[in-house]
Amino acid sequence: MIKFLDNKLFRYLSIFLFLNSGVLPVNSSSALAAWSLKTNGVLELRTKSNTNLKAYFQKANQISGDRFWVDFPGELINPRTIKGNGPIKEIRLGKPNDGKTRLVIEFKEGTYLNPLDWRMVGIDQNRWRIKLFNPKYQFKKIGEGVVEKKKRNFKANQNSIPQKKSAYRYLKLPDVKQNKFLVVIDPGHGGPDPGAIGIGGIRETDVVLEISKIVKKLLSEKGANVRLTRKNEVDLDLPRRVSLANETDADIFVSIHANASRGKRRDINGLETFFYRGSRGRLLAKKIQKQILRVSPGSPDRGVKQGRFYVIKNTRMPAVLVEIGFLTGRLDARRLEKTSHRKRLAYAIAKGILEYLNKVG
Ligand SMILES: [Zn+2]
Repeated sequence: MIKFLDNKLFRYLSIFLFLNSGVLPVNSSSALAAWSLKTNGVLELRTKSNTNLKAYFQKANQISGDRFWVDFPGELINPRTIKGNGPIKEIRLGKPNDGKTRLVIEFKEGTYLNPLDWRMVGIDQNRWRIKLFNPKYQFKKIGEGVVEKKKRNFKANQNSIPQKKSAYRYLKLPDVKQNKFLVVIDPGHGGPDPGAIGIGGIRETDVVLEISKIVKKLLSEKGANVRLTRKNEVDLDLPRRVSLANETDADIFVSIHANASRGKRRDINGLETFFYRGSRGRLLAKKIQKQILRVSPGSPDRGVKQGRFYVIKNTRMPAVLVEIGFLTGRLDARRLEKTSHRKRLAYAIAKGILEYLNKVG
């Protein structure tokens, strides 16, 4: 059995496992909610949120043809086989062992497949997509249940899963020269000003403070000096945030915020990073935006933009304001509630900063 130990698909899936660390109770029902293999050869899956998926491919042998399968947590109640058409011999839903569900796609003999180019993409917290074959094969759609949700306003974030060989590299933070740089991290709002209030009462001030503290810790470990503009729930006006950075002659200033949409629309999610001036500010914003997208699969890339926010306009060093997601958005809010996601974001922001410092040095 090829368990994808040494090829791309396995790497992408490993990233998923890292991103989706939620664990279902052993006796729960199947995490597979719906699936559809479409005429264009794309398999789409809908699962419970935060499901760990494992996918495998096996070349044909005497017993069966080429097979691709995905294992899901939770036990399937009703094992079944569905007859295929075109390049598909059959599709089986089974339980390989207690507490599990397996979806097997078996191909007909002589179907040309290129599994090394397959990649599973997370398109939402609970939706997955993988292209298995090309439309040169006549194929009538097969599926069970509804995989689609209504259309989004923004294009799904295509950067969500690293698409290059460097997939693993983002797990590592680079070092910078010891004590060479001073970074000021500014957790937005605080004290009587909670910032945005999102779904379930989640407060921007709490989210960004926790993330900022982790960023500080990570950067310090890698050799940078770091100052936070606030360490707890205090009222801190914008001029004081700016003067802390200007008076200490910081190398860079990073203000961390979370978004809210007008009318608290739950379908609006996404990440964006602002700078006010300069190619260095833009570069810093780009580095951070790239990293935070990587840990936020499915959340739209709203881009790197110029913005006139007080704290980035009045600081004298390269300065950015990063919006780590919409507390009012269904997808983003559900994640931002969790410490595990806050840690990933902190990690991503730290990584963007360290890469910038190493480049500009
Ligand atoms: Zn804010």
